[in-house]
Amino acid sequence: MASIFSKIIKGEIPCYKIAENEDYFSFLDINPIAEGHTLVIPKKETDYIFDLSDESLQGLISFSKRIAKGIDQSLGTIRTGIIVEGLEVPHAHIHLIPIYFEGQPVSLGRKTDVSESRMKELASLISNAVEL
Ligand code: 5GP
Repeated sequence: MASIFSKIIKGEIPCYKIAENEDYFSFLDINPIAEGHTLVIPKKETDYIFDLSDESLQGLISFSKRIAKGIDQSLGTIRTGIIVEGLEVPHAHIHLIPIYFEGQPVSLGRKTDVSESRMKELASLISNAVEL
């Protein structure tokens, strides 16, 4: 069965899209731990990130870097953190966490409320700043 993220890529489930290219796709996490919390995934469905080919993993990191730079540029972060857990959705993904101040709690599970209109705005701000 296709993962929820494969359904998002196909447009069968809506998302706040950031960017995509032929092989990778990026969108806001629906349960953000900080404003602009973003997921980056390979389009080809693989559960465990370290089962990706070297080429695919390197491509995922390079694509994530471009998204992170867009986050930094558009949201005024001090940097963007990166987390990989992958216990909930069996489709490899990288979490990009905008960090706005030193000491900001950065831990998955610390959900913060972000309104739908702000999610739309964040996706648009980041998306416009990303250079692929
Ligand atoms: P992990 O598998 O690394 O533990 O976390 C999976 C992440 O995917 C979670 O942060 C969760 O909020 C996010 N997520 C799960 N389902 C959806 C969805 O349908 N849309 C979006 N945008 N994010 C999702």
